[in-house]
Amino acid sequence: LTTVLDRTRIAMSEIADYAGALGNPALRLGVTGLSRAGKTVFITALVHNIVHGGRLALFDPAAEGRIRRAFLEPQPDDTVPRFAYEDHVEALIGEDRRWPESTHRMSQMRLTLDYEPEGFVARNIGSGRLSIDIVDYPGEWLLDLPLMTRSYEEWSRTMLEASRSARCAPLARDWHRHLATLRPKEPAPETDAVKDAELFRAYLSACRDAGASFSALPPGRFLMPGDLAGSPLLTFAPLPVPEGETAPKGSLWAMMARRYDAYVRHVVRPFFRDHFARLDRQIVLVDALTALNAGPEALQDLGRALGDVLSCFRHGPASWAASLTGRRIDRILFAATKADRLHHTSHDRLETITRAMIETALERAEFAGSAVEVMALAAIRATRETTVRQNGDALPCIVGVPEAGETIGGETFDGSREMAIFPGDLPDDPQAALAGAARDTVHFVRFRPPWFEAAGPGDGASFPHIRLDRALNFLLADRLA
Ligand code: GDP
Repeated sequence: LTTVLDRTRIAMSEIADYAGALGNPALRLGVTGLSRAGKTVFITALVHNIVHGGRLALFDPAAEGRIRRAFLEPQPDDTVPRFAYEDHVEALIGEDRRWPESTHRMSQMRLTLDYEPEGFVARNIGSGRLSIDIVDYPGEWLLDLPLMTRSYEEWSRTMLEASRSARCAPLARDWHRHLATLRPKEPAPETDAVKDAELFRAYLSACRDAGASFSALPPGRFLMPGDLAGSPLLTFAPLPVPEGETAPKGSLWAMMARRYDAYVRHVVRPFFRDHFARLDRQIVLVDALTALNAGPEALQDLGRALGDVLSCFRHGPASWAASLTGRRIDRILFAATKADRLHHTSHDRLETITRAMIETALERAEFAGSAVEVMALAAIRATRETTVRQNGDALPCIVGVPEAGETIGGETFDGSREMAIFPGDLPDDPQAALAGAARDTVHFVRFRPPWFEAAGPGDGASFPHIRLDRALNFLLADRLA
């Protein structure tokens, strides 16, 4: 019954999508990635570059001068907050330039383009208009997909097993100690459940902070609560429950199972049904550099999380999305972000390494259906390049203003001074890089955003970037033909 109801609701929202877009086609572009991957910066740079007519030589409609006008319109979904584009631009531009506040919940904005169609005949019939609804949401929420088909008991067992692994057990000590005091089959006061959920959440945060395990981290809202911060929907946690038995009425086990079901019904399902299932295109941002720098375990975790993310996009009869909706994401771009922290000699290597990671994930998820592309990019380029001579060698360096507090060669910076840095090279062999070889060969520095002056829409001045235009070409160009 839930599936039938879901299907009806999706059909209704699709009718609304089409009605709202009558004579004005709309494309829903999802932007996701795990926390700090670069979603906020990417959307801000995308919109600013298109509205201001920035340098987008590899985005065909812009390079061919076919975009007549690009403007913001009220976004059509009244229940979703608008992406705070203006605030983010304000943070990034000006003397006190700083990176904007990161994504912590879902938001959306609509960018509309008036364009000249390609080809003489089409051009003479008239101009085209495309609205792009950009939907920004935490990648952590995608990791909740398996919960829709898993019972509370199954979920409990998976989570407890993961928490006993060598890497997670030390972080789970307090939570395990509390669990040992609980009697799941007996009635228990509310405070037991609240305390259990708090300790469980603290354990998940510790895993994330230690880079210990991403794939063991659902429910997604425990780390990225969005508007659910402090909500009773988040007061549940796994319990050690026996296999083959059912929860006794009125027990702690029954209470936890009820709350888990409510989380799946009121949070997970509506997100997938009302938002995810309506996307046409998707970009998944990946902070591969940070994982490369952290070592082999972080890389394995990232690879696993990407596999989990990919299984959400899987088509075919086994896919939940196919059973719910006829609409499909037909293009997915995986983009390794922050490439400006490397010299361009390593950009292709970053792309190759990310591709190797995605290919493994594609195989594991038995993925087929959408066109998948992989790129390395910097939505906002905070550095330029130079060559520094040292002991007769020419070192390919990057120049930028390190963030206050960054330490390089024993010197701590205050965020006011430019500096040339040799970031090192990524290994040539992607498998070696994925095995952790980059940990000792590259040194990443966090830079402040670049300085530039923008006067107004269409002025041609926008954020410098690396390959943002190539990404836009893959995601949007065919719809502006
Ligand atoms: P979100 O959590 O995915 O929304 O991540 P953000 O977009 O807020 O990015 C997190 C941080 O990564 C920012 O505060 C920047 O420090 C850094 N960052 C993101 N994109 C870029 C980029 O293109 N270049 C550089 N140098 N840093 C970036």
